[in-house]
Amino acid sequence: MKLYNTLGRKIEEFIPYNKDCVTMYTCGPTVYHYAHIGNLRTYIFEDILEKTLKYLGYNVKRAMNITDVGHMTSDSDTGEDKMLKGAIREHKTVYEIAEYYTNAFKSDTEKLNIKWPEIVSKATDHISDYIHIISVLLEKDIAYPAGGNIYFDVSKVKDYYELSGKNAEDLIVGARDDVTEDINKRNPADFGLWFTSSKFDDQAMKWDSPWGVGYPGWHIECSGISIAYLGEYLDIHCGGVDNVFPHHTNEIAQSESYLGHHWCNYWCHGEHLNDSTGKMSKSKGEFLTVSLLEEKGYNPLSYRYFCLKSHYRNQLVFSYETLTQTENEYNKLLNKIKSLKEDGTLEQEKITLYQDKFKKALENDLNTSSALTVLYDVLKDEMNDTTKLYLVKDFDQVLSLSLLDNKEKEIDENLKAWILEQIEKRNEAKKNKDYETADNIREELKSKGIQIKDTREGTIFEII
Ligand code: AMP
Ligand code: ZN
Repeated sequence: MKLYNTLGRKIEEFIPYNKDCVTMYTCGPTVYHYAHIGNLRTYIFEDILEKTLKYLGYNVKRAMNITDVGHMTSDSDTGEDKMLKGAIREHKTVYEIAEYYTNAFKSDTEKLNIKWPEIVSKATDHISDYIHIISVLLEKDIAYPAGGNIYFDVSKVKDYYELSGKNAEDLIVGARDDVTEDINKRNPADFGLWFTSSKFDDQAMKWDSPWGVGYPGWHIECSGISIAYLGEYLDIHCGGVDNVFPHHTNEIAQSESYLGHHWCNYWCHGEHLNDSTGKMSKSKGEFLTVSLLEEKGYNPLSYRYFCLKSHYRNQLVFSYETLTQTENEYNKLLNKIKSLKEDGTLEQEKITLYQDKFKKALENDLNTSSALTVLYDVLKDEMNDTTKLYLVKDFDQVLSLSLLDNKEKEIDENLKAWILEQIEKRNEAKKNKDYETADNIREELKSKGIQIKDTREGTIFEII
């Protein structure tokens, strides 16, 4: 498997710490509003990555956080508190906001066939872990108190800018005008680990800590949750490209300083979905959500298909026109699959040939558009429909486009007659106590994708 690694900025062979259990961490949503379809593009890419690894035979243990504690709207540690902003907007408590939008996010992922990671943890459930990490960083003199807050001192870390490939000057030039500098910091790149004193006097979520009642900084939750569930060595960490700096850069700085060793080997980032005006946003332009697409009559899976048609590292521009075209194409694909009939037994050579092609496409840094081409090649091939259906089902474990959901199994009459004949022969063999022949027939059917079951009403069969 080859993956583009932001750390080092090149495509690399994926070699996990432990091939029996690949660990994967993906930054989760800030639940102060609905996710827009841009956010969901990133979750689709991560879903494909997890499913590809599983398809290739790895066991994957994946964790994701839900950011339900107030953080800032800006890319710096300043700006407005997103959760509080949501609460004020909707006249609710921050806890109600978090619960409502977590459920909304879950429902969006279900509509897009995005698997919910096996470990999903709220940021607010791990406060004691963050306090522990921060205490260790203070002991090591990598963090410092100032003005009632605790900050991470980036000058203590060698290679602080390695992931982003930037330098301090680039970042100063790129800083936004509306960001007011925090005067407590020793240098502008330092970031907050714990706040007891901030401009948010009405911060609703606060916890006791050795440094006073307060709340954690933006980045510490992902280090804390990842280490708590996935251990001290992480294989893959994902997010959207905007997470590279400062979020992931700061995660590396604090995790490695705390652990005292290298932490995560592969950093994978999905490119943005843009609208015609540029970067998608929740506050300007049309707020594009899955529900809005549904209201306009689109199937959410057409959007998934739209994302899979392009490479996750390319920017993608959304327009209704393109989505309409994509939906037509997706529907044609579904109809084509619907017309397939079980008409023979599995052609093993074809299965191996196309599975290899499908794997090769995905192993090439998740080339989903090539993987879709392999699917189309299967449908065009001369092989029988039973084999096509088998491969469609197999590929859909990764693509998750519900390719067979509307398909009732129709079985060609010739195939049915042949299976019934085999069942008859098997029953005959059993009657004659020739169990070896009976077992051989069962195994032969199984190898061709036909499962038989003896019931009180007689032997029944199912195409698997
Ligand atoms: P947030 O809820 O803002 O923390 O974002 C959730 C995820 O969506 C993060 O991994 C972001 O990097 C990603 N993201 C934000 N905007 C976009 C976009 N326009 N296209 C793709 N991913 C995005
Ligand atoms: Zn994160």
